[in-house]
Amino acid sequence: MGPKPTPNEPNGENYIRLRFLIIGGGLAGVTAGIALAKHGHSVTLLERQKSFTELGAGIQVPPNCSYILKEWGLLDILSPLATAPQEINFRSYRSGDLLSQSVLVPDMEEQYGAPHMVIHRGDFLSMLLAEARGLGVGLLTGCNVTQIDFTTCSVWTANKQEFSADVIIGADGEESFCRASLLGKQDTPTCCGKLVYRFTVKSEVMRAHSDTMDLVDPPKVTCWMGPSSHVVCYDLPYRGVCNIVLTRPDERTDFAQTGPLPADIEDVRYIFKDWDPVLKRVLDLADTIMFWPLLRAQETDIWTHDSGKFILIGDAAHHMTPHLVQGATQSIEDAALLGELFAKIKHRHQVSDVLTIFRDIRQMRVAAISKRSTQIGLIWEFEDGPYQRERDRQLKEHQPFEGYPNPYTDSALLKWLYKYNIREEAELAWERYMKGEWVGTIGTQTSDKQFESAVRGTKRHATDIS
Ligand SMILES: Cc1cc2nc3c(=O)[nH]c(=O)nc-3n(C[C@H](O)[C@H](O)[C@H](O)COP(=O)(O)OP(=O)(O)OC[C@H]3O[C@@H](n4cnc5c(N)ncnc54)[C@H](O)[C@@H]3O)c2cc1C
Repeated sequence: MGPKPTPNEPNGENYIRLRFLIIGGGLAGVTAGIALAKHGHSVTLLERQKSFTELGAGIQVPPNCSYILKEWGLLDILSPLATAPQEINFRSYRSGDLLSQSVLVPDMEEQYGAPHMVIHRGDFLSMLLAEARGLGVGLLTGCNVTQIDFTTCSVWTANKQEFSADVIIGADGEESFCRASLLGKQDTPTCCGKLVYRFTVKSEVMRAHSDTMDLVDPPKVTCWMGPSSHVVCYDLPYRGVCNIVLTRPDERTDFAQTGPLPADIEDVRYIFKDWDPVLKRVLDLADTIMFWPLLRAQETDIWTHDSGKFILIGDAAHHMTPHLVQGATQSIEDAALLGELFAKIKHRHQVSDVLTIFRDIRQMRVAAISKRSTQIGLIWEFEDGPYQRERDRQLKEHQPFEGYPNPYTDSALLKWLYKYNIREEAELAWERYMKGEWVGTIGTQTSDKQFESAVRGTKRHATDIS
């Protein structure tokens, strides 16, 4: 006998099948498709590009993300494509001195129930797309959404196709058309004063040089902390390449494109000329380097529409600095929570309430993580001087405390970040909601019909109630 269906699964006691339209086929959109289809909903995903692609090479999958994949039964499929680095090393940018080390294997899995992994973004997305396809998610490419009617829950694409659904999910990334439509104004993200350079070097080439072999064997994450800059490097054995990401300040705001753009390798070598000789050797091994300006959209807490049928998720709703490697992970937490909440819904008129509950839960967590990620970034990127020296002393002494500069040794932070259980969060929220204790919702008190007439012309969201 298989596991008991959740109430909203086919054969569950309250099964209602909703139709979802997801706009955007990045990690947020595809995982939302998986989470909702798993609970029996009908999902169509619209991606503007001709094929599904993830820019950049590697991505870190921390335990709060791999735990969700484990719950979805995907960790066994992911594991052969991914690697669990043994340790993460923080190094001084100039000398390369080891400042701090955290053991990741077996600590992460033992303490948080799932490993910290690294994987090629393309392999990650392909694996997720295969799962979504297997669950019956309609995956449509070449569908650039250019118009949304939030009330009728319909969208139109540039080539004049029309789609409609019960719920629309905007997962179209940081340059989000959905967010601009929701806010009713142009909302183009601007360059935040940082550039990201990305390149790969064949693992065998890294291994062939005595000074770079340590960066790939045994598998590890290396992070150099430098003034207003940091560099991250880890091997992706399944692809046979080592992934290197360099972040540095750049005040230019006039890039014609948002990236990836080809960088002048000699320029990059010059920029990093005073860094650790090991990193300089890695740069010598680079054939091509691409760069992206890091973008920032205006922060907004408007994620839902008054129609009660639309929600933003992923980078379209929130994005954060990459220091805590939580951007995609938070998108996948979004997806998992949507799945769990829509598994509980009993009546169509509760859709709006589910989106309100989702928004309330996610905004609190994401804002806190984003704040912490920014703080960590500032500490890692101190200019040379007394603050940097004091940080390095704290790291070298290795007496971790709350707020410690190496987050992988800050047990309070890790517990809060990694021990987060989406299913429990959804259970608790639903319990409160069913008791009539979720402010800004009314769906436990009405029928579908009463609800329709009650909300006509009424703003329902907690933030709108004065
Ligand atoms: C340097 C760097 C390193 C990072 N490292 C990590 C890491 O190690 N771990 C981690 O968890 N996170 C990391 N992140 C963050 C992570 O990459 C993002 O948070 C995540 O990829 C966002 O996924 P998304 O699906 O929300 O958006 P996107 O990946 O931007 O996907 C949006 C999709 O929507 C499509 N789209 C856009 N407009 C439309 C439209 N009008 N119609 C239809 N489709 C549309 C796009 O083509 C795209 O496919 C990093 C970020 C940076 C910058």
